[in-house]
Amino acid sequence: MASELKPCRRCGIPFKGARREQVYCSRSCASSVRLHRRDLLEGIATQSRLDASGCWSWTGNVNEHGYGRMNLGGAPERAHRVAYRLFVGLIPEGMTIDHLCRNRACVNPQHMEVVTRGENVRRGFEARGYPQCRK
Ligand SMILES: [Zn+2]
Ligand SMILES: [Zn+2]
Repeated sequence: MASELKPCRRCGIPFKGARREQVYCSRSCASSVRLHRRDLLEGIATQSRLDASGCWSWTGNVNEHGYGRMNLGGAPERAHRVAYRLFVGLIPEGMTIDHLCRNRACVNPQHMEVVTRGENVRRGFEARGYPQCRK
């Protein structure tokens, strides 16, 4: 089967991938991703601590909602989302991450679940003890 052009996962430039598992156009793209990943892992490791609850509580900057904040090449991103992508994978479009431990500062991917935004809001209300509107 002929190899098709596909965009490099790092730089976005289409290239001919000889093998299906090849997702970067060049060795330099692949290694820059690895470097970036190591920086992020280190950022998470140095800015969180393991709590008795098993939570990796963020000790770095938090935003106004109590979520850990990281800097991704100048763009702010919530630390738990970074952790999820690093350890688990991409967050599907339109989905959000719910903390099963109810600790927003927690960046332990095992304490996270991907849910729809509506589900996340509903769970938040329940956790605060608001009455539910049921039809
Ligand atoms: Zn590339
Ligand atoms: Zn947790």
